[in-house]
Amino acid sequence: MIRFYNTLSHALQPFVPLDPGKVGLYTCGPTVYSFAHIGNFRTFMWEDLLRRFLEARGFQVHHVMNITDVDDKIMAAIMESGRSLEEVTRPFEEAFFRDLETLGMKRAHVYPRATEHIPEMVDLIRKLLAAGLAYERDGSVYYRIAGFKPYGRLSGKDPKGLMAGASGRVEADEYDVKDDVRDFALWKAARSGETTWEGLGSPGRPGWHIECSAMSMKYLGESFDIHTGGVDNIFPHHENEIAQSQGATGVPLARYWLHAAHLIVDGEKMSKSRGNFFILKDLLDKGYEVRELRYLLLSVHYRRVLDLTGDSFVAARQNLARLDDFVRRLGREQIPQGSHSATAAVVEGAVRRFHDSLDDDLNTAGALGALFEMVRQVNSALDRQQVATAEVAACLALLAEFEEIFGISLGQGEEALAPELVARIEAREEARAERRWADADRLRDELEAAGVVVEDTPTGTHWKRVPRE
Ligand code: AMP
Ligand code: ZN
Repeated sequence: MIRFYNTLSHALQPFVPLDPGKVGLYTCGPTVYSFAHIGNFRTFMWEDLLRRFLEARGFQVHHVMNITDVDDKIMAAIMESGRSLEEVTRPFEEAFFRDLETLGMKRAHVYPRATEHIPEMVDLIRKLLAAGLAYERDGSVYYRIAGFKPYGRLSGKDPKGLMAGASGRVEADEYDVKDDVRDFALWKAARSGETTWEGLGSPGRPGWHIECSAMSMKYLGESFDIHTGGVDNIFPHHENEIAQSQGATGVPLARYWLHAAHLIVDGEKMSKSRGNFFILKDLLDKGYEVRELRYLLLSVHYRRVLDLTGDSFVAARQNLARLDDFVRRLGREQIPQGSHSATAAVVEGAVRRFHDSLDDDLNTAGALGALFEMVRQVNSALDRQQVATAEVAACLALLAEFEEIFGISLGQGEEALAPELVARIEAREEARAERRWADADRLRDELEAAGVVVEDTPTGTHWKRVPRE
């Protein structure tokens, strides 16, 4: 049974989709006024894992991720640079798609741009006006929070206590004209120099929250299964999405609301506004590999804060090297046909714990724990020659599942060893066979200096890469 922690119910809940076998998934996408940073990619990467996990469990997932290409920050960038909306946003949108590809993320089925869905937003605002949940002031339209009883349910905030400033992000813009300071803008009246759209009486542009309400319902229906984002999206963004959508349709927008905790550096949230961020290129330039980054971002449970340190990269590299070595060892050992019952039980236990952990609110740390315990025990069973072909097949099946769900390939690198290193390994074996020990030792040292460790075992000489520190 799959369970997710639903922010809406503040509890772990069995996951039952509306339509058996199918999942409608909406993940809040990037605001394309600059490059996405690694904090953003923590959330996007976890969403990639969620999608891969659901697909591995046999669900047909319909995944929608919006592109926010109009909002306050984008408008500020346009005003500051004097460039057009397209000139400001398209380069960052393209960079985002390149990063997704580099990171091996599955593409969403639809990437709606906010600017291409203004009529849908206008329709939704009209519905809210007709229902008495919205009102117009000086060309802007505001949502009347007092009219929506469940307001505050998602974030656990008491609507009565929400004051501009006090809760951090209640939008204070133009609040002197609002009926109530807690109300938020659905439509912002044109200011000079801004890009604007017609459609609601006076020209203007949509508020950020209405974008996701309109686009999610267009592609997934009035009610769908899962809506995700980072915890900073819970309030006010997702709270407001619920108010807008449910206020207009009378039905819940999404049934499961999942949120990833933040990635932090030196104890502070990584964010564009703080300026303490890395983009993907920064990390690749430092020599980190994509699969190390995937591993690092996914190895911590998504509801726990992830502290990015140099040590976490070293750990990711070492853990992947252990898995690579294990895969290579399974491939080259002489394994007898049949099954070895004690080892079979070890592998079965690991498979069960791997599955149970992921089913339990995507507990990736628990799943990896099960995998490494299996590697440790099967390695020692291999030393004792207590492994047969059935266990090898079961281990490989679990490793393949890990590769699929985490989007990480293992066991590569053997072929990629430079020819001069292969020649040294062969020369060392020859030297050993001819008892030229000094030569053999010299070659071993040279290989080690090049990052390759050779081991002489009863089944022959094997090599592995030493993790680079
Ligand atoms: P934005 O481009 O600011 O709209 O953010 C895109 C996604 O990244 C949203 O789901 C945010 O909640 C998420 N996000 C922003 N900062 C962080 C962070 N430091 N760690 C994890 N997720 C983040
Ligand atoms: Zn959104």
